Formats: sequence, structure tokens, C-alpha cells
Amino acid sequence: MSRFLTPPSLAQLDGVHADLRRVVLRAAAQAAEAGTPFEVTEGRRSLARQRQLVRDGKSRTLQSRHLGGFAVDVVATDGGKPHHRAASYQAIARSFAAAAAAEGVRIRWGGHIKGLFDGRHFELDRVAYPDPTAARLQRRAPAAPADMPAGGPS
Ligand SMILES: [Zn+2]
Repeated sequence: MSRFLTPPSLAQLDGVHADLRRVVLRAAAQAAEAGTPFEVTEGRRSLARQRQLVRDGKSRTLQSRHLGGFAVDVVATDGGKPHHRAASYQAIARSFAAAAAAEGVRIRWGGHIKGLFDGRHFELDRVAYPDPTAARLQRRAPAAPADMPAGGPS
């Protein structure tokens, strides 16, 4: 249990890789102490949900690191309310970096991933933590067009 994350946040960590879970819990404590608390909005994601996100134009890939439980999304909070001030996400990223170093886990922040620039997203390093599910999806190519809506997102 963590006194720095709410029960819904902790529930989102179900199915998330144990190494990433340790980093999130440590980062939550550090971030709270630094005055930039956060909550976890999503951890492991089903393929059905990922397909829906792509259909809705909210994600561009079926190879999401969320599928295998290798990624989490967070939201910065202020007095328990979500907010999107960039400085807070920079601070949260520093808490994650420090927590990952302390745990000996290699992670990447979405704010530093080329072509993604998602400040709410943290994932385990792809080389250190390959996702066998993503490899399977890749081998099944060219399946992508079937997953795309005929007329684009509406
Ligand atoms: Zn994400």
C-alpha cells in the first residue's frame, strides 16, 4: 500500500510490471514530498481498448507499451484536482528519474520520447524490457489497415 496514491491509482497498477510498480510507488512518495503529487490514470491496457483509442484518434499505435503493462500514465494533482501545468510534469519526471535510479530500473519519460512528447507517460526501457506481445503484433503485419476506421476518426 502507498499513502501517496489513492485506491483508484493503486488499482491501475494491477498488471503493471513489478519493476515499474516499484518505481511508481517510490516516485509518488518523492513527488508528494516535493509538492508535486500525481495520480496514476492508466496502467495496463487491453488490446480491445488500444484498438478503440486508435479508432478514436487518441493513439497512433497498436504497439503501445501499456498493452504488456510496461507503461503508466499519470496526472499531476493540486489539492486532489488534476491539472496540466508543464512545470509540474517536469518535476514529476524528475521524481520518476530519481526513483528509477534508486530502484536500478531503466525507464523513459514520454516527454523525452521522439514523436510522442507525452508528459503524462512513463515506460520501462524497451531494450531492457522488451514486450513479446508487441513483437507478435508486428509479425502479424500488415494488419493495421483493418484496425483503422474507414473514414478516419469522426
Ligand atoms: Zn501512456
